[in-house]
Amino acid sequence: MDCAAPRPRRLVRASKNPHKLVELRTLCGLSGEMLVSALETPGAPDPDENGATFIENALIKARALRDFSGEWALADDSGLCVDALGGAPGVLSARYCGRHGCDGDNNRKLLDDLAALGPKASRLCHFSCALALVSPGGREFAAIGHCPGRLLFSGRGSDGFGYDPLFLPDGRDKTFAELPREEKCRFSHRAVAAAAMRPVIRALFGPGCAG
Ligand code: IMP
Repeated sequence: MDCAAPRPRRLVRASKNPHKLVELRTLCGLSGEMLVSALETPGAPDPDENGATFIENALIKARALRDFSGEWALADDSGLCVDALGGAPGVLSARYCGRHGCDGDNNRKLLDDLAALGPKASRLCHFSCALALVSPGGREFAAIGHCPGRLLFSGRGSDGFGYDPLFLPDGRDKTFAELPREEKCRFSHRAVAAAAMRPVIRALFGPGCAG
């Protein structure tokens, strides 16, 4: 870490989703003033997420926001990787069915694709989350977290989003959509990635943040 460089006053988060912003503040140990929404930089670009990996996509989003705002930027990219499908949906998780953000259709396609492989196909999978933090001067940090589990044959639970109802994390008897949000946040892929990034954030902001 370059100790002579000026400390960031705040980080801008490359997403307008308020729920994920609050979750990331908690996980990274940052206050509302330290991690602000991209909504505070109106007109911020929505770059093509065309990277081959979660880290590449997180860096694409963070760099685009940094270039636009001139500020430190933090971005995340996440998704589900299914062993029997060679890691799909992977970076295409949000648009697996062909359209962006349609959870019901994405889940249906996932179950259909696995069913097509026969009843003996492995249900092993993991969620991954990459976090990327970039500075106006070109410094870049990245962290990745995983959460292993397996896919059920039909959904259970009504909390959460995305593939949560189908995902049974290792060592639990409740899906991500059945677990209380606070419990999911303790061991999720986002929590693991944030824990890896916290020492960087603590070093950047100094004492008093990131636990
Ligand atoms: P993004 O990181 O916002 O691009 O999310 C990618 C997609 O991955 C989401 O739309 C969900 O389909 C899926 N995903 C990522 N994290 C989770 C999770 O914690 N639960 C369920 N689905 C997730």
